[in-house]
Order: sequence, then C-alpha cells, then structure tokens
Amino acid sequence: MSIIVQKFGGTSVANPDACARVVSRILEARSGGHDVVAVVSAMGRKPAPYSTDSLIELAERGGANMSPREQDAIIACGEIISSVVLVSALAAAGCPAVSLTGGQAGIITDDAFGDARIRKIDPKRILEALAQGKVAVVAGFQGATESGDITTLGRGGSDTTAAALGAVLEADVIEIFTDVEGIMTADPRIVPEARYQETMAYADLLEMANLGAKVVHQRAVEIAMQSRIPLLIRSTFSDARGTLVTDGASKPGLPVSVPDRFISGVTCLGGMAQVTLAEADFNSTGRVLDVFTTLADECISVDMISVFPERIAFIVAAKQADHAIGALRGIGLAAQANLGCAKVSVVGAGMRGVPGVMSKVVRALHNTGVRILQTSDSHHSISCLVPEADMERAARALHAEFELSR
Ligand code: ADP
Ligand code: MG
Repeated sequence: MSIIVQKFGGTSVANPDACARVVSRILEARSGGHDVVAVVSAMGRKPAPYSTDSLIELAERGGANMSPREQDAIIACGEIISSVVLVSALAAAGCPAVSLTGGQAGIITDDAFGDARIRKIDPKRILEALAQGKVAVVAGFQGATESGDITTLGRGGSDTTAAALGAVLEADVIEIFTDVEGIMTADPRIVPEARYQETMAYADLLEMANLGAKVVHQRAVEIAMQSRIPLLIRSTFSDARGTLVTDGASKPGLPVSVPDRFISGVTCLGGMAQVTLAEADFNSTGRVLDVFTTLADECISVDMISVFPERIAFIVAAKQADHAIGALRGIGLAAQANLGCAKVSVVGAGMRGVPGVMSKVVRALHNTGVRILQTSDSHHSISCLVPEADMERAARALHAEFELSR
C-alpha cells in the first residue's frame, strides 16, 4: 500500500476556490495510485469566523473562568468544520471520503491542554477508511486524552498531526501544502526577492524553523527526520514542484537532495528582550549558579547565553522580561533589560568550516547601519541580536550579502 499524507493549511481551505484546488490535489495523488490521508487546518486566518484566533476570542467572551479543557474543546471545532467541508467538496467531485476528529483518527495525547504532546497513534479507523477506497480527512492540530477529552497540540499543530500520521502510516511522503511555493531563502513577506529551493536537508529546515521560519513547525520536521519520511513543502495554488526535504541520502526512487549552496536561508524572530548583568566576578561569588537556578525555578526559558566572569547576557521572550528582572532582583541582582530586540540568523549546514561567513554577516549589518547587540552560532547557523525596528532591514541585507536571490 502506498500512502501519501497531505496537509492543507488555513489559506488552502479558506474559501470555495481554494477548496477546489485542494480537491484537485487529492485527486491527483489518487490518480497516481496512492491512498490519501488529508490533514486540514481551520479555515482562513482571523477575522474568518472559524479560524483558530476567532474561536479563541469567542471562547474568551465567556469570561475569565474558561478552563484550558474548555478552550481546547472550542478551538478544535475549527479543524472539525474544515474536515467536514472538505469531505463534502470531495463527495461533490465523486470522491468518497470520511472526516475524522483527531481522537477518532486515534491520536492519543497527554493532558497538557493547549500544548499537548502526542503519546501514541492507533490509526485503525484511518486504515479502515483507506481500505474502503475513501480519503481519510483528519482534523489537524488536535487529539484526545486516554479518557476522551479533546486536546490541541499548540501552534503549528496541524503540521505535527501530518508528520505524526505520516510516520505511523509509513507514508511515501508528507506533503505540506501552503500559500508559498516551498521553503524560501527568507520569509517572502519580509524579503520580496526570496527564492524557493528545490531540495533541502532536514537539519537545515529544523534550524530555520527553530530560528523563526514559521512555514513548517519544528516538531513536524523533527518527526519526519526521525522517521526518515520525505517532506514536500508546496503550494496549493501553483504548480511549482515545491521543496523536497530529506536527509540528503538517496532513497530508492527519490532524487538525492544535495543543497548546492552553503547558506539555506535567513530567518527572523522578533519579540525578544536582552537581559544583562554585571558584577566583579560571578564565579567567585557563585552568583552565576544563582542566576540560572533562579530562572529555571521560575520556568523562564533563556537563549543566546553568554557568561563572562564579570558579565552575563542572555535573551528571553519580551513578555517574560519583567518576570526575569523581578526574579533576579529577588536574589539581590540588578539586571538590565533591553526590550524590543530581534534575532536575525543565517542558516546552512554547509557553512561548517567555511571561512569568512561571520565577516560577511558583520559587513552586511555594518553597511546597513544595524547595530549588533549580541551573537551566537552553531555548526548550522549564525544569529545576531539586533534592535527589532531594524529586523527586516537586517534580514534583507543578509539575504543580499549572501546572494540568496540568485
Ligand atoms: P499555513 O496556514 O499553510 O500553515 P503558515 O502561515 O503557517 O501557512 O506558513 C506559510 C507562511 O510562512 C508563508 O506565507 C510565509 O510568509 C511564511 N514563511 C516564513 N518563513 C518562510 C520561508 N523561509 N519560506 C517560506 N515561507 C516562509
Ligand atoms: Mg502553518
């Protein structure tokens, strides 16, 4: 049996025209001899009435006492509506299909409402539907606890649903349909000359997703990578071939994916705050341990961490800055917060061992008059913290410096 999982994002099911494109994508895959599992997101984006954000707003109208369990129950309706609308569009095109909620599709999660993790999947009902020649249309972004409560998987959750189903069904490919032609060298909303790439390695996409490229959720990339199922990111609306994401090794029947450049893309992540601390010697007083223990106890996640004997710097989400400063004040430390920061990164496994990447990064930002507040790097990326107001300019400068639109 050859199964393809196709995931359709919010814009792909937003209106009847888009839905018609979705139907033809599914029919194309079926005529290629594949069984199809379609995973759908909620219809459109706010203010569309059944989009996730609109449903959250509706839930909040009920007042402050709405429990996370109830919130999940209303949010999950968005994807259920999409799944039924798609089943009906498929039926009108003569294609048998059945809608399944996450729970009906066998997706069992923990009970962390709003951000649940998938524990296991029993795809019995999906396989039954496929055996009957039907398309299984699964409501994305949701599952159910062992006891049957509806849960949601957090932002980007439909991508995760698709990847997890692809893994458990040992799909030939997981296709993520969206409103761009593939993974581009930068977010085209920020860098209009960004280009889409035909192939990419999981590791690069994972790094891009972690560093802010919201096109596919990082959890979905991790799952695909672990199960070695190819991901194909493509447009619902254009016939471009899309970006094939693999580990670069050849698999029977698949093209070898070797990125032909050492930088895959530029990413941006706003809404950050830089926190700095200064003292004569953090080591001799043991304060360095106090700082990070306190932040851990407060469940504040830190990033871009630099520790010097006399200075500590790190970043937190801007909305957690007050919390972090208050907690540090509580142990007698006066930390400074620089709100309004953004992280701009160049990503590419191919940069490893290539001299001069940092000098190009610095040159691009210097020539554009963007201040670098802090940097961090890995084998796959170099990130610069910059003032948020300069974020988009910085991304465009880096994109141009590395000639990514060629
Ligand atoms: P969907 O609703 O289909 O899940 P998303 O909005 O989650 O769609 O993701 C698609 C969007 O991701 C694009 O419209 C694009 O603006 C944005 N994006 C950010 N970075 C990139 C990138 N490197 N390549 C392509 N798209 C990107
Ligand atoms: Mg998405």
